[in-house]
Amino acid sequence: MQTRDPSPPCAVPESGLAARRRTTTVHVGDVPVGSANPVVVQSMTNTDTADVESTVRQVEELAEAGSELVRVTVNTSAAAAAVPEIVTRLDSRGVSVPLIGDFHFNGHILLPGNPDCAAALAKYRINPGNVGSKKWDAHFAAIIECAIENGKPVRIGVNWGSLDAALLTRMMDENAELAEPLAADVVMISAIVESALSSARVAEEIGLPHDAILLSAKVSSVPDLLRVYRALAPLSDYPLHLGLTEAGMSRKGTVASSAGIGILLAEGIGDTIRVSLTPTPDGDRREEVLVARQLLQSLGLRTFEPQVTACPGCGRTTSTFFQEMAQDIEGWLQRRMPEWRETHAGVEALSVAVMGCVVNGPGESRHADIGISLPGNFEEPSAPVYVDGEHHSTLRGDDIVPQFIAILEEYVERRFGTDRQAVAGSG
Ligand code: SF4
Repeated sequence: MQTRDPSPPCAVPESGLAARRRTTTVHVGDVPVGSANPVVVQSMTNTDTADVESTVRQVEELAEAGSELVRVTVNTSAAAAAVPEIVTRLDSRGVSVPLIGDFHFNGHILLPGNPDCAAALAKYRINPGNVGSKKWDAHFAAIIECAIENGKPVRIGVNWGSLDAALLTRMMDENAELAEPLAADVVMISAIVESALSSARVAEEIGLPHDAILLSAKVSSVPDLLRVYRALAPLSDYPLHLGLTEAGMSRKGTVASSAGIGILLAEGIGDTIRVSLTPTPDGDRREEVLVARQLLQSLGLRTFEPQVTACPGCGRTTSTFFQEMAQDIEGWLQRRMPEWRETHAGVEALSVAVMGCVVNGPGESRHADIGISLPGNFEEPSAPVYVDGEHHSTLRGDDIVPQFIAILEEYVERRFGTDRQAVAGSG
């Protein structure tokens, strides 16, 4: 009989992720952004900023969902006038998330004309393509001078939908003069990168500190996003804000953003992310925050909440029992987390497995902190439970879910509870 020769382990990379690109650290309020710091989750409201109460409510919801920075549009005098009141009301509710002002077309008027707004915001976002072509220099300088006076950082956020037309035209004309002109899309990407870097250069010449600048360069297709950021990243040490612009709705927006942002993060590129999902009319704005957090946790870059590993199910498990159980466990963890976060330090790193049959069930359950392998079709109706890689018990009967939850509750208490030292010490 032929047997396989034992072979040595193949070469395995130490990490699935490249080392993070080195950047400065920019302080947005009390949130540090840059390579020495965790990748920051941010989001943006879709309320009328002039509607103070609606905006406060949404900022609060986004912050509670885990958005560490929240951007609001500041597009009118009324919106600018509302910003200080929004910050005051958030403070009174105990919400300290830094607020970023998003300016297009009239930032050079709104910021100097509303000093309380300029002071209340933690960062300004300006789009160099929407500063005004005829008086670009003066308008851009007015915003940057306001940032310098108030000690605020600035994100220079280029967007290909509003790329500086004069710059693009000049670069296209210069390209046309070449003996072998580059393809138009290459010139376009080069113009996006140049717009971000040249604007940052001008901002520094005006006096904005080097460590008060972040860059973004957003496009709407994943391959182009990769091209833009791979071109931009080596050319400076400014922290980079990642995101697809106009990512789209639900499944498409989630998958496209995860692919684009995820690939760049895996390459070590990116210091803060926003998943720009278009909500359905009655949709929940918090979804973009939850997707961003899950993306970072799936990549192993941040740890926010316990993760449930569940198999997809197949012909070996035709009942919906294990799907319902996975859902019950996940729902139970979500309900318990608000209290545990306060009382059980480290519980967010918990991993739980809920598996459908004996094929991968015991193995996957052993890899988790705590796991259960449910019986598939034709298997004995029993469910072994594994804790810290060891067989713990075998559950039977109609109440497997509450039995498992009781074991899980006891495990969390023992491992993360406030009296875990005493329990550990009691032997
Ligand atoms: S663990 Fe079992 S039920 Fe789940 S997908 Fe694998 S074979 Fe199918």
